[in-house]
Amino acid sequence: MDITSINAFTNEPFTDFTDAGNKRGMEAALTQAREHLGQVYPIIIGGQHLHLKTQFHSTNPAKPAEVVGTHFEASAEDVQSAIAAARAALPSWSRQPAIARVKLLLDAAKIIRERHFEFCAWLTLEVGKNWAEADADVGECIDFLEFYAREALKLDGTTTPIQYPGEKNLLRYVPLGVGAVIPPWNFPFAIMAGMTAASIVTGNTVVLKPSPDAPTLAARFLEVLEEVGLPAGVVNLVQGGPETGRALSESPEINFICFTGSKKVGLQIHEHAAKVFPGQRFIKRTILELGGKDATIVEADADLDAALDGTVAAAFGFNGQKCSACSRVIVADAVYDAFCDGLKERVEKIVSGTPESNAYMGPVINQAAYDRVLGYIETGKNEGTLVVGGKALKPANEGYYIAPTVFRDVAPDARIAQEEIFGPVLAVIRSKSFDEALEIANNTEYGLTGAIYTGSREKLDRAREEFHVGNLYLNRKCTGAMVGAHPFGGFNLSGTDSKAGGPDYLTLFTQAKSIAEKRG
Ligand code: NAD
Repeated sequence: MDITSINAFTNEPFTDFTDAGNKRGMEAALTQAREHLGQVYPIIIGGQHLHLKTQFHSTNPAKPAEVVGTHFEASAEDVQSAIAAARAALPSWSRQPAIARVKLLLDAAKIIRERHFEFCAWLTLEVGKNWAEADADVGECIDFLEFYAREALKLDGTTTPIQYPGEKNLLRYVPLGVGAVIPPWNFPFAIMAGMTAASIVTGNTVVLKPSPDAPTLAARFLEVLEEVGLPAGVVNLVQGGPETGRALSESPEINFICFTGSKKVGLQIHEHAAKVFPGQRFIKRTILELGGKDATIVEADADLDAALDGTVAAAFGFNGQKCSACSRVIVADAVYDAFCDGLKERVEKIVSGTPESNAYMGPVINQAAYDRVLGYIETGKNEGTLVVGGKALKPANEGYYIAPTVFRDVAPDARIAQEEIFGPVLAVIRSKSFDEALEIANNTEYGLTGAIYTGSREKLDRAREEFHVGNLYLNRKCTGAMVGAHPFGGFNLSGTDSKAGGPDYLTLFTQAKSIAEKRG
């Protein structure tokens, strides 16, 4: 591949589903995907496709009895074999010229772009994304592949800031070794593929363990990688839940762990990674992107319609199941009642229905999420005043549907204002001044995203300095980060602020080697 033929990065455009052709394309892809429901997917170790003893199913959250994919749960021994395969593939893969690794990502992006609707359909069936949310996930996956490909070339061309007289100085970003890639289920295509792509384009080899709620999407991504010539052992796929994840992340043979998921699991991984086991000769690196309790501040001088639209979209898009979702809105006293009325009016109009029919809101991911969110709704009934929602829309066996729910008059330290719910529940908090609004916004253990709506330049400038989050949005919603434009990652217990989709991300998967050669 000729480097000069690689044009500048641009974000993948969103698909317009009001276009009849696109609508037909998505419907056809859903029909076709349905013909493959329940298909058996192997795990992949060293290029070998393996069927194991213990099976498990991923199911459709809109129809829990419907099996989407049949997968095999990897045991601790299988995980060790996968790590060994990754180790064996490392010398050859890490010594490939960067352009060869880059080509793999670009070829994969091309295939995914060509089969865009097919992957959207699997997102709809396996995790319950409506068409627009599925489209954004596939688009972000393509963006990550395209963006990291270009960033890898830049990294490969790094030079030292100066050349010392009488020497030839080099700075090479070399891989860390074998990585564990452990993604969540909520962006099961983009995040899973992005973490994997960043790991391998920098010369590492990995064991990928997807979420047991979204194993089919990862298995299908692996099919794409194999189609474009992934060498055996560079990405090994093991499936399973926490036990498989633990066996992988706790192995002393792993050099780094790239994890996106809950605070609880991320901190466990971080703690364990700090231990050095007999014979271990490196410090394990962790790249952790965790939860959020994201706030939107609405000031009295804001464009209230824009603030209402942005808050509702950020709170209820994909049923509030985004780490960036707005789960607290902090509203100035003077517009508080008007804002609550506006929320009620808008949220009552939200249509819930099947993701396949492209309803705005669908089910939450599984029974545990359904129980957890309904539990928080009961807590909320004691901690605030219910404005709208507050109940399940169906019994769990008919799909995990929960009404979009808003509580007002919630105290800043209430549980529903402090704990990540990860579902369609929004707490409205009153603020008496801008100082107080900032204080409330910053007063959780998280620090992922935040938004502020105000017409005041001075308040925007203060928010830029004082609103302590990794991704801050001024006069726009706090969800919808775009690769390259909004490098993504959080402060505090929201993670190690790794900034996926940003210019520093790939360096996290490398160690810099400085080489000086005496001249003359
Ligand atoms: P989770 O922590 O339950 O699981 C994440 C992954 O870890 C899964 O693959 C899971 O199987 C695995 N796992 C579970 N227990 C493990 C253990 N003990 N050891 C090793 N691996 C283990 O999270 P989830 O429910 O899949 O995802 C939702 C969470 O992810 C939310 O908290 C959300 O905020 C967060 N998230 C964060 C970002 C971000 O960029 N900061 C993005 C998306 C999601």
